[in-house]
Amino acid sequence: MNILFIGPPGSGKGTQSKLLTEKFGIAHLSTGDMFRQAIANQEPVGVKAKAFMDRGEYVPDSVVIELIQARVIKPDCKNGFILDGFPRTVPQAQALDALLEKLNLKLDAVFFFDVATPVLVQRLSDRLTCKKCNRVISSDDLATAQKTDCAKSAGQTCDFYQRSDDLPEVVSKRIDVYFNQTTPVLEYYRSHPQFQSINADRPPEEVSQTLLAKIGQR
Ligand code: AMP
Repeated sequence: MNILFIGPPGSGKGTQSKLLTEKFGIAHLSTGDMFRQAIANQEPVGVKAKAFMDRGEYVPDSVVIELIQARVIKPDCKNGFILDGFPRTVPQAQALDALLEKLNLKLDAVFFFDVATPVLVQRLSDRLTCKKCNRVISSDDLATAQKTDCAKSAGQTCDFYQRSDDLPEVVSKRIDVYFNQTTPVLEYYRSHPQFQSINADRPPEEVSQTLLAKIGQR
């Protein structure tokens, strides 16, 4: 099963990707996570991406497309994947179409995560991310979240930090960039036979139930 999540930063795509990829045993392809990993490992692609990310801008299409082309053919994608944060521009969407055609694959579901802008600003400024497993929580839930194990390191708790691009001055830039550059992508997919818009301004468990019901797997 191949699923595409489109939505602004902070709309919950990452959280829902984690829940659904675990349930279905498919790969979570988050280009943002891939870049953060490449930065942490000081890989050349991370060096290229970092300056753009720190400014809240998009990494150039050629870099992102190359990254996803190499990722989608890895063995863990053989049962399917969720694309989270790609494509974000029309050239990326066109490159994805070409890639899927070449690999003889199709998208089984395309979900748009609809959330009002003031809610996004609040969520992004309040959120913390685990350095190891990328779990995202609200800062209000820190005390509780630190009592549970990290998904990537058994017996250890998560190591939460505030992403540099979740700082207030970068958050508004990211939302502006999303509306300017990714709205055309939404229009690109609106006519896709599997396109569905969901109200993502609800608790994560409710959003998951909606997604599962729409996929027909509750
Ligand atoms: P995310 O974790 O999805 O919010 O992505 C964090 C940052 O990574 C974005 O603000 C961009 O700078 C960069 N990025 C991730 N995915 C893409 C993409 N598909 N196109 C361009 N830049 C991206």
